[in-house]
Formats: sequence, structure tokens, C-alpha cells
Amino acid sequence: MLRLTELHLPLNHAESDLTAAILARLKIGADALLGYTIFRRSFDARKKHAIKVIYTLDVTLQDEAQILERLHGEPHVAITPDTEYRFVAHAPSGLTSRPVVIGSGPCGLFAALILAQMGFRPIVLERGKIVRERTKDTFGLWRGRTLDPESNVQFGEGGAGTFSDGKLHSQIKDPHHYGRKVLQEFVKAGAPPEILYVSKPHIGTFRLVKVVENMRATICALGVEFRFQSKVADIEIDQGQVRGVVLASGERIATGQVVLAVGHSARDTFQMLHARGVYVEPKAFSIGFRIEHPQSMIDVCRYGPNAGNPMLGAADYKLVHHAGNGRSVYSFCMCPGGTVVAATSEPGRVVTNGMSQYSRNERNANSGIVVGITPEDYPGSPLAGIDFQRRWESRAFELGGGNYDAPAQLVGDFLAHRPSTALGSVIPSYQPGVHLCDLDSALPQYAIEAIREALPAFDKQIKGFAMPDAVLTGVETRTSSPIRIKRNAHYQSVNTQGLYPAGEGAGYAGGILSAAVDGIKVAEALALNMLEKNQPLT
Ligand SMILES: Cc1cc2nc3c(=O)[nH]c(=O)nc-3n(C[C@H](O)[C@H](O)[C@H](O)COP(=O)(O)OP(=O)(O)OC[C@H]3O[C@@H](n4cnc5c(N)ncnc54)[C@H](O)[C@@H]3O)c2cc1C
Repeated sequence: MLRLTELHLPLNHAESDLTAAILARLKIGADALLGYTIFRRSFDARKKHAIKVIYTLDVTLQDEAQILERLHGEPHVAITPDTEYRFVAHAPSGLTSRPVVIGSGPCGLFAALILAQMGFRPIVLERGKIVRERTKDTFGLWRGRTLDPESNVQFGEGGAGTFSDGKLHSQIKDPHHYGRKVLQEFVKAGAPPEILYVSKPHIGTFRLVKVVENMRATICALGVEFRFQSKVADIEIDQGQVRGVVLASGERIATGQVVLAVGHSARDTFQMLHARGVYVEPKAFSIGFRIEHPQSMIDVCRYGPNAGNPMLGAADYKLVHHAGNGRSVYSFCMCPGGTVVAATSEPGRVVTNGMSQYSRNERNANSGIVVGITPEDYPGSPLAGIDFQRRWESRAFELGGGNYDAPAQLVGDFLAHRPSTALGSVIPSYQPGVHLCDLDSALPQYAIEAIREALPAFDKQIKGFAMPDAVLTGVETRTSSPIRIKRNAHYQSVNTQGLYPAGEGAGYAGGILSAAVDGIKVAEALALNMLEKNQPLT
């Protein structure tokens, strides 16, 4: 197969135009082309009136070697690289000992899947409920103001990203094409096949729920045991080696190999690990607000007369501003045609995030507008970032009226330093509701100042971004983990053998795709370590 890159076509082209472009690029007749698949499809929207589609294609040809030789030196034609995933190890037969995976988010799920596909049969321990029951509990907060601290947007089967936009792009370096393996497994589990080739794939909440269920069925069929409502409350470490985990119920599970994929909101687990002496250090993260605009405004700004074209879908954006006080402000987790969601896992606190359905056809666009902060902003213990998050999440609860409504303010009022008293044309989507107020005291002043400066600057890039009626909802504090559970070159904790800190919570991923990729890497390291030691685990 040959790979053709940089095939540019107009937005509204027919399939026959694409075939014609392939034939022209290869200087061949139609009978030499046996077929093609799209490897990547992206858009160049710099000229809004003439948006282009850019393809990377894998083509199957008659007399491929001859054609390649003839095109020698031609740019954008090459042999298709091998991106197939290959297992690094296989479990020896008769292995009775089992690794434990803590957490069933994308990191834990992929760690479990890869271990299972290699013949190791981990036990997956998840504090929350199966995804269908978890969905009901999550709606309990959104519609009924009732939070279940063990079953919510952060905790339960599928992890934090289950109720999300399901964006699957990442900027991680991925020389071994693990990301492709992740996307292929998602497609096998029911995700739309286009995620394999569109440049900014997403799955959307409802479909993610099904994907997560199907992945569990696949993993279970390989002999893995999933245990829900099984919170790991303690970990046994003896002479720097993991010996087992203890559940909140008191049950002990002996194991020498633990994947720790607990996500960024497992604050009690972080505290327990720190108390047990596992090396933890503070990490930078970001804080801010969600902002909502009409999606139609973003579409017109990005796509001009092509706004609404079904091939383009709802437009996204990515914005950065370096503020005069030295802080960076940027858009985070942008959800086109989505909703702002209540994302706390702790009572008496308010946290925002965003989600979309696959169709992305809600009225508003939303994104986090967040400010980078570092451990210098929360000095003290390695866990001081958690106290910092809690402080502002509690403040948001208070400003919101103490009933899980989120504090909100119109952008015009925020910029004019006056409290909001009535909504304008943008109706906020946050459930259970918003409480209009002055957000000035909702975050540290350096963050407020930086956001005040950034919004007009963003308006220069997206006309209308600082429109007076746009709505800010607070607070966005769980952008990534406030700690890192440092690991060595073998993916194990630097001071605790057999403990594999992984994914977003350990500070090694930021998003669904990178967390899943990290799960694969950790599964490989664990399997190789088990084989090397050939140790009985229980
Ligand atoms: C509303 C929302 C929208 C998002 N949208 C996107 C998006 O569109 N695209 C994107 O890339 N990312 C998105 N994210 C971020 C993404 O969800 C995370 O980056 C990703 O889920 C991290 O994966 P993880 O497996 O490392 O951790 P998590 O997904 O957080 O999973 C950790 C799991 O561990 C469990 N757990 C925690 N402690 C214990 C314990 N002691 N014992 C047993 N189990 C435990 C938790 O219940 C949880 O299920 C979103 C997040 C949220 C909250």
C-alpha cells in the first residue's frame, strides 16, 4: 500500500473528485487503482470562503512497486508505514497470580485490556458503580441536587471522561502508534469508525456509555474480573514493595503488582498514598471559569459562509493569551454544541466542566477559560494543591447559593466590575442552575485579572468572544491533577516497587486518549516486569 499525503480538495467535492485527484497524483489510469482508505481528513479554514479538505490516503494499486519506482523522489507519496500494535509479552501458561488495576477510567480500562490480551488476568477495582447506574446518580445531581460522593461525573465505570465531549485528540508523542490501537479498540466497542481518520475525533456522551459497556464485556471475556463499588482504601507496602490492597469493606487482596489509575479527583486515595510514604510531588494545573456563547456565532467566525456545512460540523476554537501579570490564559476542553456540567465529587463544592453529544447540536458552545498556576501558588505539603482546589470549590458553592447552583456572571458585567442581575441572549446550560452574582471573589485576584485581560484579547481572534451576554460559570478547578506520583523508567513509583502510577491522576496524562495510551504503556511495563521476575503474585 502507498500513502498519499497533502491531497487538497474543495469543501464540497464529490467522491469522484477524490478518485480523480489520486489518479492525477500517481499519474495512473483508473484500472490501476484497486481501492483506497482515508487515513486522515482535516480542514484548512484559513480562507473562510474557500475552505479546503486535506486528505491522507492509503491506496492499493496494481503494480505498486513499479509505480513507486516511477514516482521516486515525488513528495507526498511513500510506502504506508506499519502502525500495527504488537504485544510485548505473553503470560506463561498456568500463571495463577493476578495484577490489580485500580480505576476503570480510560487508563485503567486500557491497562486491563492490554494485560488481558497478553494473557494476564488482572482484577479491576472501581470505587463507583457500573455505567448505567452511575448515569442515574449523575443525573441525581444535575436534576435533583443530590450528590453521591462515590458515583458521579468523576467516579464510576468509564472514569471521568464518560460524560464528556469524548474528544480524542492529543498532542502526545506517539512513535509506537498506541493512539491508533486505542481508537481501533474504541471502534470495535461501538465508537463511530470515522474517529480513525478525522483530525479531531469525538464520540459524545451517549455513545461513550455504550462503548464503555462493550469494552467491559470484551475484557471480561478474556478472564478479567471487574469489581464495582470496591474502593481501595489502603495499600500494603513492605520494604518498599507492594504486597496488597485493602478495600473500604476491609477485604484484603494480595498482589505484588498494582496499576494505580485513579484519576485526578481521588483526593482521599492521594492522601492515603502520601500517608503510606509513596513519593508524591505537587504539580502545576489551571483554574478558571466556563464560558458560553451561541454556537452559531463561533461557526460564522470560523467558517464564514460555510458555517453550518454538515461536513464541518460545529466549529471549535483554541485560544491563548499571555497576560501582563505573567499568567497564561487559555481555552480548555472546548465543547462545540454542548453543555456545561456540574462535575464535583465532594459535597458542598461546585466544579464545572463541559460535555457534548456526538451530534454537537446544542445551542451553546462552551470552553474552560483557565489560568495556569504552579506549586508556588499553593506552597506547603505536596498535597497543598488539593486544599487550594477545595477552597475555591467551596467558595463557588457559597457564591452559588449553597444548593449546587453554580455562580455565574455575564461577560459584560465581569469586564465592567459589576454583579449580574439578569441574563441576556445566552441562556446558560449548567444544571441544576446558575446563580447570577459577581465572580470577582470566585478565584484568586491574579487569575481574575488575567481572565479580564484575556477576554478582550480573545475577542480580536473570535469576533464576539467578549460579547456582553456571554456567560461565565464557575469554577473550573479540575483541569488536571494537582500532584504527580513520580515513577521511574520502568513506570513504577520511584520508591514503591510494584506500584505503577498511571494516567491523569498520577500526572502522566491529560485527556482520554493520553490516559488510555498511558494505560497501554504501563500494562506493557508491568507484564515485562512480571515475566522478568517470573514471580508468583499471590
Ligand atoms: C465532564 C468532563 C468532560 C471531559 N471531556 C473530555 C474530553 O472531551 N476529551 C478528553 O480527552 N478528556 C476529557 N475529560 C478528561 C478525561 O475524562 C480524563 O483526562 C480521563 O478520564 C483520565 O483518565 P484516567 O483513567 O486517568 O482517570 P479517570 O477517568 O478519572 O478514572 C479514574 C477512575 O478511578 C476510580 N477510582 C478513584 N479512586 C479509586 C479508589 N481508591 N479505588 C477504586 N477506584 C478508584 C474512579 O472512580 C474513576 O472511575 C473530561 C473530564 C470531565 C470530568
